[in-house]
Amino acid sequence: MNLAYSFEQKFGRPPRVETLAPGRVNLLGEHVDYNLGVVLPAAIDRSVTLAAAPTSDDIVILNAIDLGEQVSFKLSEIEKRCDIEGKPLPGWVLYPAGVAWSLQRAGVALCGMQAVYTSDVPIGAGLSSSAAVEVAFATTWQALSSWKLDKLSLAKLCQRAENEYVGVSSGLMDQFASACGVEGHVLCFDTRSLEWMPLELPPGTTIVIADSGIRRSLATSAYNDRRSACEQAVELLQKYLPSIQSLRDVSTVEFAAYSMYLPPEIAKRAEHVVKEIHRVDQAIIALNRGDARMFGGFMFACHKSLRDLYEVSIPQLDSLVEIARVLPGIYGARLTGAGFGGCTVNLVEEKNATSFMHGLQEGYCKKTGREAEVYLCRASGGAEARLINSL
Ligand code: ADP
Ligand code: MG
Repeated sequence: MNLAYSFEQKFGRPPRVETLAPGRVNLLGEHVDYNLGVVLPAAIDRSVTLAAAPTSDDIVILNAIDLGEQVSFKLSEIEKRCDIEGKPLPGWVLYPAGVAWSLQRAGVALCGMQAVYTSDVPIGAGLSSSAAVEVAFATTWQALSSWKLDKLSLAKLCQRAENEYVGVSSGLMDQFASACGVEGHVLCFDTRSLEWMPLELPPGTTIVIADSGIRRSLATSAYNDRRSACEQAVELLQKYLPSIQSLRDVSTVEFAAYSMYLPPEIAKRAEHVVKEIHRVDQAIIALNRGDARMFGGFMFACHKSLRDLYEVSIPQLDSLVEIARVLPGIYGARLTGAGFGGCTVNLVEEKNATSFMHGLQEGYCKKTGREAEVYLCRASGGAEARLINSL
């Protein structure tokens, strides 16, 4: 679809800027971001695309093509969470409005704008469609203004929008990956220091994402339970390891020595996190060596740990991983995202990718009677805005 054309149809003038902001997939380091570990996401070539032009008033008119809806709100009344007629903002508007709220709170001046947007990041599948929307709007407002923030600061302001304006508790990884993606690379992101560097995907490999078609229903309460189990583990372990602030500070050896003092369920949750943080360290070595088989081995190990220790998998995700395990060209597979539905991520030999995708689809249908959507994904660059009409 030609977005500039859609914009012109709706607003009777050409857009000034076109922005693209990708979704992301996490290759390793699952449920470690809120334990201050290192994560290994990549931005993917599925994104939000947005066309916009500034206005001289403080009204923002949003047209969400995929939802077939349009809403207007005033920047000066953003705290009220109401549209210009005083009706409560619908859920989907909270994401862009939250970005405006967060940017304004950070002290930057925003213009009103007309915007149309669409996305091919599936919603609620664990590929961060929401972060892509947020980062697309932040990047667009920046392109239409005279201020400039570095990508990480922009990502942090988007995270704040999601946490405080939308009201969804989440780490910084999603917005970070959408803002900072590097083509052909995994992003090694330390959620404690916020330092990061791109690491090349092993040569000759590609990412395949398989959507189980199951949407996360228990996800929010289970996510909160897991977070609180990790916090309790830290509190209990501090008796023996007084200097620890998070599970990031607990080595695998220390954990082996003291896990016996934790209640069994808390011990299982913490074991996943401590070992996953250690796995990521090893996986970075694998990436530096370009060793796809070694990296893939850690992905399989991660899935097993999420299934048996963290207990966030479901049979359909387990089936996708088990089917993938025996297909030619597979290096590693695991559930990605919070769990309880959504997608698996697979690292696959590039030359076998097409037959792998067919095999996975067929096997999943045979086993579960369901269709899995399977996407070939390229690790992609981060959000970018392009000025298209400077008149
Ligand atoms: P995800 O895991 O995909 O990020 P979330 O529940 O966090 O799922 O966010 C999904 C929400 O983001 C949607 O309900 C909607 O409000 C917003 N969103 C995502 N994609 C679009 C889109 N294409 N158009 C409008 N809003 C969208
Ligand atoms: Mg989200």
